[in-house]
Amino acid sequence: MVSRSGIVIQPVESMYGKQENSLDYTLNHFELIHGSDKERVRADMLHGKSGHFIFDLKGVQWYCHYNPVGYGGWYIFTMLRHDVGAAYASEITSRLTAASGVILICFLICVLLILRQQKRHTAALMRVAYYDELCQCPNLAKFKLDVQKFIDEHPGEGVLMTKFDIRQFKLLNKILGKEVGNTVLITIAAALDQETKIKGYCRAHDDEFYVFLCCSTSEELDKIRTSVWNQFYKCMGPGFSYPMEVIEGRYFMSFDDCQNAAEAVEKTNIAHSKAKELGTKVCEYDEALVKQALWKQQVEHQLEPALANGEFKIYLQAQYHLNEEALASAEALVRWEKEGKLIPPNDFIPILEQKGLITKLDFYVLEQLCRKMQSWKNEGRELIEIAVNFSRRHLENPDFIQNLCSIADQYGIPHYLLVVELTETAMWENEKNMIQMVEQLHENGFLMAMDDFGTGYSSLSLLKNLPVDIVKIDRSFFYDNQYKDRARILISNVMNMAKQLGMVTVAEGIEEQRHIDFLRQVGCDKVQGYYFTRPVPAESFWEGTRGAG
Ligand code: C2E
Ligand code: CA
Ligand code: CA
Repeated sequence: MVSRSGIVIQPVESMYGKQENSLDYTLNHFELIHGSDKERVRADMLHGKSGHFIFDLKGVQWYCHYNPVGYGGWYIFTMLRHDVGAAYASEITSRLTAASGVILICFLICVLLILRQQKRHTAALMRVAYYDELCQCPNLAKFKLDVQKFIDEHPGEGVLMTKFDIRQFKLLNKILGKEVGNTVLITIAAALDQETKIKGYCRAHDDEFYVFLCCSTSEELDKIRTSVWNQFYKCMGPGFSYPMEVIEGRYFMSFDDCQNAAEAVEKTNIAHSKAKELGTKVCEYDEALVKQALWKQQVEHQLEPALANGEFKIYLQAQYHLNEEALASAEALVRWEKEGKLIPPNDFIPILEQKGLITKLDFYVLEQLCRKMQSWKNEGRELIEIAVNFSRRHLENPDFIQNLCSIADQYGIPHYLLVVELTETAMWENEKNMIQMVEQLHENGFLMAMDDFGTGYSSLSLLKNLPVDIVKIDRSFFYDNQYKDRARILISNVMNMAKQLGMVTVAEGIEEQRHIDFLRQVGCDKVQGYYFTRPVPAESFWEGTRGAG
């Protein structure tokens, strides 16, 4: 330690040797410091600065660093033999260099590993996002990109998109097993892949495939289609004999000048849905299909507001005893009064049925009818039996009968005045539950009618098994002139059978006198048709109905 005036108070033994270790040492020892360095050190010490210098002592070079203590002008001189320091420094430097080299190599290896991992992840993500795992082929997202790229690069080319699936593929899975089902899908993809005229294809989901190809006529497409399916059956081998039915929707993009892949997929989809709905093998897209698709959307979305606005109106069509031509009963039929137009039920009921929304409307009709019947009762009218149409969708609802009871009871309508009408096909599809349903309806005092009798597959067996109260003979019996004589025989036998089973028979859609005469002959109980009256708004039922008092 050295004072600012150069007095050394703590010398270092190793510098001077033991005999020279004395407090007398003065700054003269700065003689060790050469030339201008001495002045710089002095100046630094006077100003309280730190610094360093190198000096020779007995032929050895030393390195000295001086630092102010920060009190009383004292300085600490730290000295180190320069050769020791330099060797140490160079050792440290080389060690540091080696360590940095290792770190750098490790870092580079890490970066490479991360990049490789990232590449793998990206590839895996791309596969998930763009490929179908089962068929190892593009999925819908990739298909759309491929189609867009193609149409951008080949403007004006005659292009066609098709979508197909296999009717009742679920059944195939059930009968042949899921593995065979998967093989079928994989083989379809492989057959599509081999067809050179196909520019792109994908498996969208389940058994649905989209194909995109250059061709401008249906005939040309049919040829390609045959070649693909020949290839499929060849790959499946002779052991595969399952009768597969393909349902296809087609959209000729170039006819419509469609330049957008997503729009083309949407339109192809519409054509495919229509083919499914119609039960046909192939359906081509046209603008009418779009109108229908839009109408479907409207019906679906406008049901709630239309119910709230009271746009659904109850119409009643009278049924007459055939004997005395007197009013016997009626059927409630709904109409949609939308923006000043009266929309018939066939335009919206099948859509609501498909979307599972019909049950709401049916109960609305029942409630409005009960409300009306209550007001008639209050006016002192004698109420008649009225039938309400219920969709097959109600059969899925375990609370159906309870709901019927609560609505009828809310308005004080005796249950025996209400007839639940269900179509024959709905009953046939649910034959097992139907017997129980009819029994429960009877237990609660309601009547049950089998609507559209004769349009199903096994009408007679259904009639035999189901103890319904009323059978409504479908109007098609009276209008199918080709089978007039056969129809007459059938109707007279149905009348007989129904009578023996204690059921009331109603003939529907009767417009002509000759039908009335025939129905009288065969002993039909009641008639409903334009011959007597058309459906009229419930409000004007008593004024507008023949024979109503
Ligand atoms: P439906 O139950 O078979 O009703 C009889 C249909 O035949 C009614 O058609 C009626 O107006 C029509 N009709 C009656 N007499 C004649 C005739 O002499 N000649 C001709 N050409 N037609 C006649 P509408 O009212 O258009 O109803 C069609 C179908 O819509 C009904 O057939 C029924 O299945 C369904 N529907 C009507 N209202 C409802 C409802 O509130 N709920 C449900 N789920 N379906 C309903
Ligand atoms: Ca009906
Ligand atoms: Ca009917």
